[in-house]
Amino acid sequence: MKHINVALFVPDEGCPHRCSFCNQKTISGKSRSLTVDDIEKAVVTALSSSDCGDGEIAFFGGSFTAIEREYMLSLLKKGREYVDKGLFKGIRISTRPDCIDAEILTLLKEHRVTSVELGCQSMDDGVLLLNERGHTSADVVNAAKLIKEFGFEFGVQMMTGLYGDTNEKSLETAKKLISLKPDTARIYPTVVLENTRLASLYKTGVYIPQTTDEAAELCAELLLMFHEADIRVIRLGLHSGGNVQEGFVAGAYHPAFREIAESRIYLRKIREEIQKDNLAKGKIEITVGSRYVSMASGQKKSNIDELFAHGYTAKIKGNNEYKKYEVSVRLTK
Ligand code: SF4
Repeated sequence: MKHINVALFVPDEGCPHRCSFCNQKTISGKSRSLTVDDIEKAVVTALSSSDCGDGEIAFFGGSFTAIEREYMLSLLKKGREYVDKGLFKGIRISTRPDCIDAEILTLLKEHRVTSVELGCQSMDDGVLLLNERGHTSADVVNAAKLIKEFGFEFGVQMMTGLYGDTNEKSLETAKKLISLKPDTARIYPTVVLENTRLASLYKTGVYIPQTTDEAAELCAELLLMFHEADIRVIRLGLHSGGNVQEGFVAGAYHPAFREIAESRIYLRKIREEIQKDNLAKGKIEITVGSRYVSMASGQKKSNIDELFAHGYTAKIKGNNEYKKYEVSVRLTK
């Protein structure tokens, strides 16, 4: 049996205003508020096919800790019932950095919340301001400190390609977030959705979003930074559920975005090995971890084709001893 999480959406709930890029209804495909009955139905469905003992009940979308208190408590109490019965290991919530304080964290602890994710999006105050986030990078630092002091599993969410953003600012954001020592990270390249401020800025030519290709190149670097800091990236790229396809206007969106970025990491590593050993053009054998052979080959063998275009005929073999992103390359006859 698979261990699974139950993901529940509270679109827009608790948000003091709408950030430039956000259209939660499109992302989640939900147009009404989550009810206690919805939680029960989702849990019963999950338990009918899976053992969820290692899973979490996760509330996504909106700003959970800023939801009107009585309603928020009704959702938490329902989730807590299942955790107390041992059917789930805990509750996961996501919220804004300026909606965290000791009082709310105490309440979350009492209601079996085990993981708190912060929608940080950027650590550049100019980017936060331009995208109407309504908080600063200092709020992220303060909230992170408190969440860790309370002993929650701590997650960060960041975006790339926001209005006013640059690759350098995104790399700096990742560095600053890594220094907060989160347990997990989610990285979302900006997708311009209908009925958002970004869509208007895009349509008037004021804002130029990243292409999927540009975002994949940057995200390959970001993924590697988090990986090297031993922080699990539990999501890369907007999920393809909800009404994202219908509401899509522009930006970096691909259902297999993570695979694309991960194969870029392998291409970089292979190139670095070739350069390091100054390998002459010709036939090469590339060794990677056995589980990562197709990732190293690239989507539709794009990495093999790219190497061929630069004079290398590559064969990739797997080796159980190699870790993720570990690569060696040798010339063959
Ligand atoms: S706080 Fe989060 S959920 Fe709320 S509008 Fe901003 S991005 Fe959307």
